[in-house]
Amino acid sequence: LDNFPYSHVLVLGLAKSGTAAAKLLLQSGKRVRVNDKNANENDDAVNELKSMGAEVITGSHPLCVLDSIEIVVKNPGIPYDNPILVEAKKRDISIITEIEIAGNLVESSIIGITGSNGKTTTTTLTTEMLVKSNQSAKIAGNIGYVATDVAKSLGKEEKMVLELSSFQLMGVKTFKPKIAVLLNIFEAHLDYHKTFENYKEAKCNVFANQSEDDFLIYNADDPVVSEAVLSAKSMKIPFSLKKRLNEGAWVDKTSIYFKSEKIIDKSDIVLVGAHNLENILAAISAAKLSGASNEGIREVLINFSSVKHRLQFVENIDGRLFYNDSKATNILASQKALSSFKQPTILLAGGLDRGNEFDDLIPYLNNVKGVILFGETKEKLKKTASDAGVEVILTVNDMNQAVKQAYSISERDDVILLSPACASWDQYRTFEERGDMFIQAVHTLM
Ligand code: ADP
Repeated sequence: LDNFPYSHVLVLGLAKSGTAAAKLLLQSGKRVRVNDKNANENDDAVNELKSMGAEVITGSHPLCVLDSIEIVVKNPGIPYDNPILVEAKKRDISIITEIEIAGNLVESSIIGITGSNGKTTTTTLTTEMLVKSNQSAKIAGNIGYVATDVAKSLGKEEKMVLELSSFQLMGVKTFKPKIAVLLNIFEAHLDYHKTFENYKEAKCNVFANQSEDDFLIYNADDPVVSEAVLSAKSMKIPFSLKKRLNEGAWVDKTSIYFKSEKIIDKSDIVLVGAHNLENILAAISAAKLSGASNEGIREVLINFSSVKHRLQFVENIDGRLFYNDSKATNILASQKALSSFKQPTILLAGGLDRGNEFDDLIPYLNNVKGVILFGETKEKLKKTASDAGVEVILTVNDMNQAVKQAYSISERDDVILLSPACASWDQYRTFEERGDMFIQAVHTLM
């Protein structure tokens, strides 16, 4: 571990990334103290770290865990108002996330992808485009593969395509991807970041340490992004759905281009939705700048139908098209999903009540001929649908009933769309579980 001039490190929060970081630090000869409030002293991970030489404190967060510490590696989920972090700031001890360490390990290039929405889709597309172009690349980060672990396993020439959340990016100091991608900035995570400015600053950390010979791919149609990138030192490569560009990726009525070169006809692309077209432009730009071939890029785009649970095409049953967009845990995501279809649509929605209203969905319900509602928010959504003049409004108790009802009111060429506009935790453990229930329920119709 070069360029990591700290000898005594506190790893705050174990989980997968904390455990990986602690191991790596121990293997690099650092003194490591680990503190996790929820871990148990008999946990396997705790025992393993102890046997490797770590000092482990579980069950509470006593401030003395900071004594003699030079730097804190925190789990991205731990908020900055945690007393240990407040005290660390007072004592002028740096706070980083595991991404900072992973960045140190990678010898070839990193493509770092962030934004409020579209990260997973763009990260997946970019990786597949590189792989289909016979380049060696691995996917990592917020998408579910701990960056440090992946970084350790990379070949010398192998690239890392890294999905980055604002929580991870808030804790970087020197991290510097060869290619940074900034998709959009709108959602604020205000409970964590406190202000929109803080959130924006965290997102901008994806390019903050880049130099003149690095690339920054950004959404030129997003005013917040366009303003934010003005301070970047790197080469700026815009993408746009709205205007023709000399540099970067753009579209006209029929095709997608990178600079002046045509890459693919839009009609050959399987992914639906204008938002996905933005993700495609970003992925093409990152892939082209990394040397991917047009054939490799095309092969991905003519086959790639979705990431699971993101506007995922499930089945065509008697001309009804079923889509699973369980990942749409907020109104904005459901707006995007609804905008993706011109056909008459039956919407399945509802879930955890976060206290918000759903009026912002009304303008997007024009093609919606029926809504089937469930979960804590079903009464609120009932009012929204009735304000929008939707004809059929049904409330049900579970996903099986929802899918059956949707099918019973549908006709040929209708879209039946699960896009809940709410988190899943009132009825399911995760949005994945909710999406899987939907897929299962659709399959019982066959
Ligand atoms: P993330 O990893 O950032 O959460 P995903 O690729 O998993 O993003 O997509 C999550 C949801 O966000 C999708 O179901 C879609 O509704 C919405 N979305 C995806 N890409 C975009 C985009 N470029 N702009 C706005 N919304 C998007």
